[in-house]
Order: sequence, then C-alpha cells, then structure tokens
Amino acid sequence: MSDTSYDLGSAGFSTRAIHAGQPFDPSTGAVVPPIYQSSTFVQDGIGGFRGGYEYARSANPTRDSLQELLAALEGGTAAFSFASGLAAEDALLRSVLTPGSRIVMGNDVYGGTHRLVNRVWTPWGVTLETAEMTDLDAVRAAVRPGETAVLWVETPSNPLMKISDIAALAEIGHAAGALVVVDNTFASPYLQQPLALGADVVVHSTTKYIGGHSDVVGGALVVADEALAEKIGFIQFGAGAVSAPMEAWLTVRGIKTLGVRVDRHSSNGLALAQALEAHPAIDRVYYPGLESHPGHALAARQMTAFGGMISVSLAAGPAAARRFAESTELFQLAESLGGVESLIGYPTEMTHASVRGTELEVPDTVVRLSVGIEDVADLLADVEQALDRSAS
Ligand SMILES: *Cc1c(COP(=O)(O)O)cnc(C)c1O
Repeated sequence: MSDTSYDLGSAGFSTRAIHAGQPFDPSTGAVVPPIYQSSTFVQDGIGGFRGGYEYARSANPTRDSLQELLAALEGGTAAFSFASGLAAEDALLRSVLTPGSRIVMGNDVYGGTHRLVNRVWTPWGVTLETAEMTDLDAVRAAVRPGETAVLWVETPSNPLMKISDIAALAEIGHAAGALVVVDNTFASPYLQQPLALGADVVVHSTTKYIGGHSDVVGGALVVADEALAEKIGFIQFGAGAVSAPMEAWLTVRGIKTLGVRVDRHSSNGLALAQALEAHPAIDRVYYPGLESHPGHALAARQMTAFGGMISVSLAAGPAAARRFAESTELFQLAESLGGVESLIGYPTEMTHASVRGTELEVPDTVVRLSVGIEDVADLLADVEQALDRSAS
C-alpha cells in the first residue's frame, strides 16, 4: 500500500477494520498512526488551521481516525465517538428530542439506557414508553404517528437475548415519522449491519466488543443522513462528552481484530450454549444460536453468527443462580462484556440493579455469561465445576 491509497470502498470487513482511517504517518512512515495527545493546535496566523484542527474538543486527529473507521464498518457516512456508551446515547437524545417528545423503547433494553431516559430525560418533559419489540403489532400500537420522535431497538437484547426484526421495526418507525435507533453493542458491526437494514442511527458502547479488551470505556453513534450528522456533530462539540485521544487509540487498536475475535466468541458461545442446554441444573438457555430460541430463524437471517453472550436460568432457583455466578474460576465475576476474557454476572443485582421494580426487571434465576476467546475446553470445564458446586 502506498500513499496513493488502496480503495477501501469495496474491501471486506476485516480489511476495512485494519485500514480505514489508518494511513501510515506521512512524516515518519510509522505504520501505526501516532496518538495525538494534544489539546490544542498551532495556527499559522489567526484562523490558519493545519488540517482544520483548532482545539481537541471540536476535533482531534486520533478521534477522527476512530470515527472514520467506525463509519466504514457500519456503512455510515459519519460516526461520532464519546466518553462512554451512555454519553453517546445522551448526545443523540439531545440532538433529536425536545420537551414534549415521546420515545418508545424495547421492554428489556440495557438498564442504563432505561435509566438515562427514565431518570435523566423525563424530568425535562420527555415521555418514555416501553414495548415488546419482538411483537410487531405491539410496537405498531405503541408508536404514535407524528408524536413518537424515537423508536429505540436493542437486538440481541440484554440480558434475555431477545431478537427483534430491525427491517420491520424500521418500517414501522418510519411510517410513524420516528427516528429508528439500534443499539448494536451485543452484535457488533461484524455480525449485524443495522443501517443496511433501514435503521437511521447505530449506537455502540465501544467499551464492549468493539474495544474488546476491557481496557477502555467509550461510546459511538453512526449515521447515514448528513443533516442528522450535522446535529450530532454540533452536540458532540457543544456539550463536549468526547472520547480522549488515548481512549480513541485503544479502541482503534481493538477494532483491528474484531472479526477474528467475534468469530471465536461465536464458536465458543455456541459450544457453551449447547453444553448448558443439555445440563440438568439449567432449565433455560437464552442464546439465539440455539434452535430452541424463539428468535433463532430471525437471528440467522439478520446476523452472520450469534456472538458470545449467553444467559441461563438455574432450575433450582435464585440461591443456586447466585452460587453459580460466584463459583466459576476462569469466568470472572464482573460487570461488562465483550472482552477477550470470560465474565459472569448476576444481572438482577449487578448490571440490571437500576431496573429492579420496573417492568424491565430481570428474573432472579438468571445468570449472564460473556464468553471470551479462551480455549473452549477450559471454559466448558469451568462452567461444569461451578454448576456442580452450585448444586450442593
Ligand atoms: C454497556 C452498554 C451500554 C452503555 O455503555 P457504557 O459504555 O457503559 O456507557 C449501552 N448499551 C448496551 C447494550 C451496553 O451493553
């Protein structure tokens, strides 16, 4: 590759993941673009910006390189990187809601997303309604033409791994005049492409699969429409919840291996889901790659594989569920997901504590596994020994 540049437009996913927005440094030839750890940029006379850079809240070359990469992976025209997934969501909501706006969300969205709208946005005059996104008639009934500003979809959902039909929901949302948003955190762009299915905005917690190494917190928005991009760009600059250069650089570094990581997450996930489904201590496995999952056929159509997130319900009840979550040795007990290392969590008291007592409450028999990319035999053995211990 010379600086006359290979055409990435028609390149495959992993080629884009490694090269989009990542030209070598022209002054030194460094293969990896440097981290521009600088808050401000010298001007050649007042207003004489080099490459358009002025002050790093408005733009920083490292953040730009991540944003260009994310847009290329999701098939968008623009991407915006933020300090966290929730900061990205908040910036999107600031861009499109006004007092009196209504928003319809899935009834099992990420707990923090629900809390953001329910506790931060409703005091500013926004109305939140939740709907069962796997039931298209229920969504049709929930969106009000001309009144619902946003239809918010998360698929696969967290932690019950429900699959909803992005293309059908985009049609329903658009017919009502709503902006259709898909939180693509669980699938990642490698498994699912919401913009191509008709969504207007893709949201990511890049903390999860995109960063992939549990070493950075971040979020992103990707859009196709230029007018919407302009509004979001203004809020990113004007409200300022931007990602820092080091975080942007770590995220770029993680993205380069997204395809190979998610292939392994998916094959490990399927092997674990099959083993858990056959285990007598487990009465239900929530994994879209299993034929027993109600969303399996849709997931097979809408995704290229099924990822590494699994939830299970323990037959012996909540005490056994807690013991299982506390008995694994390789799977570490921690919040978050999508990293190379396997994690286990008890949603009702961890990730989903904020939605206890609401209709988003997670059953107290459910344990969530983020299956990492370790050797599958070790993961299987760890889950087996933990289930044995949790039964006693
Ligand atoms: C983690 C997560 C978020 C929030 O992202 P943060 O980076 O923690 O702010 C949003 N949606 C989903 C599906 C998540 O898993």
